[in-house]
Amino acid sequence: MPDHPDDGGPGSDPGPDPGPDADPWFGLAPDRARRIGASVEGRAIDAWCFGVARAASDGGGPPSLLVVGGVHGDEPSSVGATAELGQRLADGDVRAAGLVWLVPALNPDGLARGQKNSARDVDLNRNFPASSFSSRYQPGYFPGPHPLSEPETSALAGLIEQEKIAAVVAVHAPFACVNYDGPAAEWAGRVAAASGWPARADLGYPTPGSLGSWLGIDRRIPILTLELPPRPLASFRDTCRIALDEALRVVL
Ligand SMILES: [Zn+2]
Repeated sequence: MPDHPDDGGPGSDPGPDPGPDADPWFGLAPDRARRIGASVEGRAIDAWCFGVARAASDGGGPPSLLVVGGVHGDEPSSVGATAELGQRLADGDVRAAGLVWLVPALNPDGLARGQKNSARDVDLNRNFPASSFSSRYQPGYFPGPHPLSEPETSALAGLIEQEKIAAVVAVHAPFACVNYDGPAAEWAGRVAAASGWPARADLGYPTPGSLGSWLGIDRRIPILTLELPPRPLASFRDTCRIALDEALRVVL
């Protein structure tokens, strides 16, 4: 095991990340959750909103940042990372300039099974209505029969439209880098500099129908894909906190 500077100190236990069924509220206030949808198997998909809307005199309309985790069910550290950001926002330990919407677990069925894809074996990050959406796919990357065919992606797209989401952080694993799409190079560079995880314009393989290609490339909404390291969250918690807290400083 390489020697990571934040590989846990005394008392830390880098055990397995809990699945969403361990705490359906992710340590966040249940009464502040907004149910945005349900999975194929009927598990709740919830969102939390933090912060205050910008005054009309300051440009009007609240520019909103979305942070989404658990798109892939075999990346539970992304759920914990997003939920812990919510706990810091709730406690006032970190603030954003505008509203922050959090969706800790977009794919609760996959998370419950510990598998990447949804209960219908759809790779949810190939099911968004990007111009690059393709029905041709590699094994394991079934994009669904058509864009937004899945209740999970429909729920997220509905939130994005209703709340006029102006920037997105999608938390994934395991590449330990700050991938970005759309006008987000400077933002990615700041998060990379703060965290030490490199900024990368692409991951080296095509991602048709991904959230990044839909929002970043087609709609020119800045989007980071924060790729966490391939280890339990406990082994890189401090770096993850630095990365996400820096991401909140984006000016929308
Ligand atoms: Zn992923």
